[in-house]
Amino acid sequence: MPNTVQQWLQTARQQLAQFVPPDEASMEAQILLMHVLNVNRAWLIAHATDNLTDMSITKVESLLQRRLQGEPVAHILGSREFFGLALKVTPDTLIPRPDTETLVEAALAKVNGRIRVLDLGTGTGAIALAIARHAPACEVVAVDASASALAVAAENAATLQLSNVQFLASNWFAALPAHKFDLIVSNPPYIETDDPHLLQGDLRFEPISALASGADGLQDIRQIVAEAPGYLNAGGWLLLEHGYNQAEAVQQLYHAARFEQIQTLQDLGGNPRVTLAQWPTASTHQ
Ligand code: GLN
Repeated sequence: MPNTVQQWLQTARQQLAQFVPPDEASMEAQILLMHVLNVNRAWLIAHATDNLTDMSITKVESLLQRRLQGEPVAHILGSREFFGLALKVTPDTLIPRPDTETLVEAALAKVNGRIRVLDLGTGTGAIALAIARHAPACEVVAVDASASALAVAAENAATLQLSNVQFLASNWFAALPAHKFDLIVSNPPYIETDDPHLLQGDLRFEPISALASGADGLQDIRQIVAEAPGYLNAGGWLLLEHGYNQAEAVQQLYHAARFEQIQTLQDLGGNPRVTLAQWPTASTHQ
């Protein structure tokens, strides 16, 4: 039985490396041990030759077994960091991904003053809460069709003490009052229903309603782009995350709905990931 910090990490890394790339295996082993010992990475390095207690080994081995069964790290820990915020995550919500930080940055770049922001399909609340934190003058409304996801999002808002976000159960725009917004953001489901990735990795453990969207993956994006104009102020912006190969299709949808200033941004991995466009200002809209 490995009993120093270093020995446990090495054994865990070897087991994990059968399922995930080596650098991730190393990181995940550290994350699980940091969680059980309630320490940071610097502590692990400084205490590499410390012996682990039997209790710690039992606990961390049970987490490792769950991970080896495929359960996402975010579910094992019950949390994930997004845009510097520690967010509670459950199987009722999509796990926030770094790709989505591109959407938040683009949204924050459009914020000026006390604007109204709508987040569609908020899940853990990741996008809405990151905007609320970094643009405290904004009034954010976050909707989700899933009551259990909304409960997680509301809990995250309370933990982070963000009071400028309101939560509402709504399937996209369906339950929204007739009230307009300056910015509408969403990371909707956009994977093709028969995409084999849905049967692999973390995606197997996430709500399918947050991932898959019809045969071409665009069913929800199509609906959002078509209905957004009814909820945008003149000059307001719509920002949507989409699949790496959907930028052109999403641009066409925006174009057909008569949006202007259409542009696509790349995520950290260099994939086209976010497409945004402006609802015409009063002067250009006849
Ligand atoms: N980007 C995620 C993935 O491909 C999907 C998230 C989504 O559908 N909004 O794993």
